[in-house]
Amino acid sequence: MNTEPGLAPAGLPVERELPDQVGVLVLGGGMAGAAALLAAAEAGQFAVLLEKTEAFGGSTVRSAGLSAFAGTEEQAHQGIEDSVELLRRDLIAVGGGVSDPALVDLYCANQLDTYRWLKRQGVQYGHIHAASGQSAPRSHPCDTTAALRALFTSAGTLGARLVTNARARRLVRQDARVVGVEVERNGELTQVRADAVVVATGGFSRDRKMLQRYAPQMRDALLAGGPGSSGDGLLMAWQLGAGVVDLPYVKGTYGHYFEEHPDEDGTGILAVYKGAIAVNAAGQRFVDESVPYKAIGDASLAQPGAWTWQVFDAKVMQQSDDEVPIYDFANRERAGMLQVAGTVGELAARLGTEPGVLEATVAAYNHRIDSGEPDPLGRAHLSGGVGTRVPVDTPPFYAHPSGTVVLATYCGLTVDPSMRVLDVFGEPIERLYAAGEVVGGFHGAGYMTGTSIGKAAIFGRVAGTAAAHEKSDLSW
Ligand SMILES: Cc1cc2nc3c(=O)[nH]c(=O)nc-3n(C[C@H](O)[C@H](O)[C@H](O)COP(=O)(O)OP(=O)(O)OC[C@H]3O[C@@H](n4cnc5c(N)ncnc54)[C@H](O)[C@@H]3O)c2cc1C
Repeated sequence: MNTEPGLAPAGLPVERELPDQVGVLVLGGGMAGAAALLAAAEAGQFAVLLEKTEAFGGSTVRSAGLSAFAGTEEQAHQGIEDSVELLRRDLIAVGGGVSDPALVDLYCANQLDTYRWLKRQGVQYGHIHAASGQSAPRSHPCDTTAALRALFTSAGTLGARLVTNARARRLVRQDARVVGVEVERNGELTQVRADAVVVATGGFSRDRKMLQRYAPQMRDALLAGGPGSSGDGLLMAWQLGAGVVDLPYVKGTYGHYFEEHPDEDGTGILAVYKGAIAVNAAGQRFVDESVPYKAIGDASLAQPGAWTWQVFDAKVMQQSDDEVPIYDFANRERAGMLQVAGTVGELAARLGTEPGVLEATVAAYNHRIDSGEPDPLGRAHLSGGVGTRVPVDTPPFYAHPSGTVVLATYCGLTVDPSMRVLDVFGEPIERLYAAGEVVGGFHGAGYMTGTSIGKAAIFGRVAGTAAAHEKSDLSW
């Protein structure tokens, strides 16, 4: 679980004053902004990044830090067979036929190169795991705070600069071109002129009003994400006529426990993918636990009280991995976030489920595994098509209270493969680029684990490079 408040500016190339005029102006200090800044600086531009809060990192530093790449050294080291073609097929399948194939191609064409580029800056990846939507294990964990520090430091050596507490309020347009940004700093509004602007302001996972308006299905969901995830970039670009896609597909993530830990902003756990069953307040299963955690999230939101439990045994607990937050069960137990009991009956009593129901649920689940009968909810695997079901039969037994939380919004601005923002008619808004969570079209109707940070890095780099090639021929 990552409760990082953000990446403090100390030691980074932070500017005290706002510059008047820059080459590439990047809005937002998460992974997309950091990648765009470095790419623009590498292309020889004077690049400046504005961050509205006092620390960098947004949702990026609160995340589980998993990036989806295929064909990496870490995968080879673990003997994992994967390929760009398999990644592409998975992305198209997960996107449910709605994702933009040009953006999926862009991700696939640039992912390995961007992974190597990140590693050259000093980003390090740990043990690779399979996760939602992946037919080969390809979730590459990294320390996102260290990763951003590395990118900002590299950008700084190339002359790029960062400014904190600088909130972009409006895009400034002149003769159909975006020529800068109106910025609020210390209560004052100032204009910063730029040859090109990259919007990398993240999504709107923390804005209840925007969620109510555009994703009402998330009414009972918990909210997380960086404190700056309030949809500013969407609003600024909409004002200039930008298009938006994938709004109907905002989904929450299963496995979070906020009720008694309201400050917890990190990831939940997904014991279901190691063998747990998910039960509702009555003690009944309600979903095939191997489906993507967004789909479990939807099913959980539909249960009474929008609240359910992941129930598992000692065999699952033994697989606890403190390097992977979603599988870090042991630290959850230490933090007092699990109910523990010697028998399923005792566990049921602790959870307050209806007498005998949880016991019957577990007995029926175990019996079907032992007898080889199909699962009535369709569960054949642990996660996706990987692993086989295991009985819940080895004490002690555990239960983790689990809600659904909006971590990211996935939908967003329409862009072309150079990350130019397109208006509602599909025409580029001149000199306006976007990257990261603020961009739509790539995920389509579903989400593969690791593709949000992956998208931020890959598309951020594309945006920064493309923005850097805008000619500085404006007459201001
Ligand atoms: C708990 C959690 C776990 C997650 N785990 C994963 C994971 O393992 N893998 C994965 O792929 N994705 C994960 N995600 C999603 C992922 O972290 C984000 O989608 C991704 O990091 C977004 O990057 P970004 O750079 O686009 O936005 P952010 O990292 O949110 O950065 C945007 C920045 O812009 C700033 N900003 C906003 N408005 C303005 C403005 N007007 N002016 C200036 N600055 C502004 C914000 O303050 C913020 O710092 C997770 C998210 C959460 C919350």
